[in-house]
Amino acid sequence: IQVYVPRDSAALAVGADEVADAIVAQAAARGAQVELIRNGSRGLFWLEPLVEVMTAAGRVAYGPVAVEDVAGLFDAGFLSGGAHPLGHGVTAEIPYLARQQRLTCVRMGVTDPLSLTDYATHGGWAGLRQALQMPADGIWQTVLDSGLRGRGGAAFPAGIKWRTVAQAQADQKYVVCNADEGDSGTFADRMVLEDDPYLLIEGMTIAALACGATRGYVYVRSEYPLAVQVFGEAIERARTAGYLGDNILGSGHAFELEVRMGAGSYVCGEETAMLESLEGKRGIVRAKPPIPALSGLFGQPTVINNVLTFAAAPWILSHGAQAYKDHGRGRSTGTLPFQLAGNIARGGLVELAFGVTLRELVFDWGGGSASGRPVKAVQVGGPLGTYLPESQWDIPLDYEAYAAVGAVVGHGGLVVHDDTADLSKLARYAMAFCAIESCGKCTPCRIGSTRGVEVIDRIVTNHHQPAVREQQVKLLRDLCDTMVSGSLCAMGGMTPYPVLSALNHFPADFGLAADQRS
Ligand code: SF4
Repeated sequence: IQVYVPRDSAALAVGADEVADAIVAQAAARGAQVELIRNGSRGLFWLEPLVEVMTAAGRVAYGPVAVEDVAGLFDAGFLSGGAHPLGHGVTAEIPYLARQQRLTCVRMGVTDPLSLTDYATHGGWAGLRQALQMPADGIWQTVLDSGLRGRGGAAFPAGIKWRTVAQAQADQKYVVCNADEGDSGTFADRMVLEDDPYLLIEGMTIAALACGATRGYVYVRSEYPLAVQVFGEAIERARTAGYLGDNILGSGHAFELEVRMGAGSYVCGEETAMLESLEGKRGIVRAKPPIPALSGLFGQPTVINNVLTFAAAPWILSHGAQAYKDHGRGRSTGTLPFQLAGNIARGGLVELAFGVTLRELVFDWGGGSASGRPVKAVQVGGPLGTYLPESQWDIPLDYEAYAAVGAVVGHGGLVVHDDTADLSKLARYAMAFCAIESCGKCTPCRIGSTRGVEVIDRIVTNHHQPAVREQQVKLLRDLCDTMVSGSLCAMGGMTPYPVLSALNHFPADFGLAADQRS
């Protein structure tokens, strides 16, 4: 009997290893034949450790399972899908999962992440095999036609980037994957690396074929040691099986891939700072132009995309551009694996087509706040993303609709706050975060963020001096204008987003009347 216990970091953090050991021990004590499979996570984090058992009806889920629950599960006959208070029925029918539109994350939690057989059996390598049949310009044209945009934050069309590198003249080109994933509340990149690593290898290899690159690097944040280990193992296995190396699947194409670890700097998620770091230098942002597609890693043409961008490519190649484009709305085509985090009852990964609303994600999937208190604000797009008040929760999540209200979709991370949150403290945190993480290259970010902390402090402490407070609010707005207009990269340029959204939508938290909004 096959029993699945995830080995993803989120499951391990809540005792998955111990639960797996307890299941093996109970099975041995009871003489039950159990084949333990360490799968990836389904992304239903509130149910982790989520134990699944293969039955005639399909895989049946139990969770969250603690070590002390294991004997009771055996008593209830869970090896044949028996009823138990922790039971959720057939996993694929759990509404949180069944109502998703998983294209990129379709294998997550289903397979053993390092099993090449599992990967191939569940549709793996179909995109690469298709790409190997196509000319390079057919590959990037397919990605261009799909409308895929960079999932790292800037949302630049991936096909245009790939075409630019393909058409550049150089002896050496590179494909670099940004897996720095430093945004608060995000974990989708980590899940790809840990739970479906061959997907990223396949996506990067497709990009390499499209643009003529023969070397690739995956830049992973140092906080993801398990991801580095699993992905490194996946590279070795893929190479041994002929999916990487000098002669990919006998095609004559060569592509080699390596993992590089960051050193804990948020700004190294900015693509040019990441290139500096990859080259062994301090992670400082480069001025553009030249763009990395023409002069990137070691001065050579380089495709840089986020994990989720590369991870979307295999599905696009195997199913066609139009099939991908059939999902989403407007210029925001396809799906995005949204990540529900913060004060939320059912945190996890929810992959859906663009166009879903924040209200649906936070309440229909997330179940509202974990505290049970009213939700006050949702920050979308990482620590530099906007705080959205309830009046904006029905805006369809797509790049254009969010830009129209000064918000960003970013990497799809949502951090929920209940009504105990003080938005002035969160605004102050944004400025303090920028002051700590600034690379120091430009003045509005390096100095402005420190001044920003001081100005916010003066606003909230001068309760009894309205004139001082008003003057400081004006100063804060001027400072934010300067940071937006005068910063070299998004670190300084977007820190005002959370600050101004907090000030504009939650003035009371700053001790201001509503009429003192912008
Ligand atoms: Fe560096 Fe900040 Fe300027 Fe970006 S905005 S280049 S992080 S100082």
